[in-house]
Amino acid sequence: MSKLVVVTGGAGFIGSHLCNRLKAENYTVISLDNYFTGSRDNHISGVEYREGHTKDIEKHVPETPDIIYHLGEYSRVEKSMEEPDLVWDLNIAGTFGVAEYWRKRKCKLVYAGSSTKFGDGGLSRDATPYAWTKASNTELVSNYGGWYKLPYAITYFYNVYGPRERAGAYGTVVEIFRQQYAKGGPLTVVSPGTQKRNFTHVDDIVEGLMLVGEKGGGDDFGLGNEREYTILEVANMFSNEITMLPERAGNRLASGIDTTKSKSLGWSAKHGLEEYVKEITGK
Ligand code: UDP
Repeated sequence: MSKLVVVTGGAGFIGSHLCNRLKAENYTVISLDNYFTGSRDNHISGVEYREGHTKDIEKHVPETPDIIYHLGEYSRVEKSMEEPDLVWDLNIAGTFGVAEYWRKRKCKLVYAGSSTKFGDGGLSRDATPYAWTKASNTELVSNYGGWYKLPYAITYFYNVYGPRERAGAYGTVVEIFRQQYAKGGPLTVVSPGTQKRNFTHVDDIVEGLMLVGEKGGGDDFGLGNEREYTILEVANMFSNEITMLPERAGNRLASGIDTTKSKSLGWSAKHGLEEYVKEITGK
């Protein structure tokens, strides 16, 4: 019998890559997605897709999995300032539903935490509804693990890019730049442009999730490429035609990365952003 894995957010950018890899390794995979940003275009053959809110996970997934990968949360930083009610519903009510499901099923939980917890020397953890809910959920998960003696591992993603990344209102910068470049237009850089990020290829993230799922325990599995770039540097990899946009509340200036625990499992980032952009521009 193959192991049963539930992936919340399985129809999303990162979740779909994880589902693909799990299927390739012969796991039975159920995705639970609310299709807020997830898409049916991301569906992977052989995965069973269920539509619904994570707060209702017990109703949608009555099975008992071996592992839950909880990736299905509201995931934009600056945008979260405009809609705290939605962030609360998806990340607080939703994740509490997943925690309760986990407590009753007694399986392993792998939580997709956010590296915003460590940005700007720790200040960015409280700077937006997104960062704060994600950071408090890491406490919820580690406390549930301790209170109820449940196996878990908490990962922290750093600016993930790659195929199936989104642009638009809920998009991320590399794909936004890729599409602006493809249209021949200027690239929109949010001021000051000197803010730094650790861009990490989605294949490296999935490799880390697999290792942590198999043999990781506890908090602090940072999954990020150590190489930092400013947003202006990233824009310039595509083009020199740039339009500066005004500053945005909640926009951290620096990340803050620690991958020690992931490396102890044999993980390291194998892909670089420059090679990805070069494949796009042919330069
Ligand atoms: N950003 C930008 N231009 C855009 C979209 C985003 O300069 O059109 C900036 C954004 O302000 C942030 C960085 O790029 O400083 C990374 O943003 P993203 O939303 O990709 O990820 P975040 O670091 O916020 O999780």
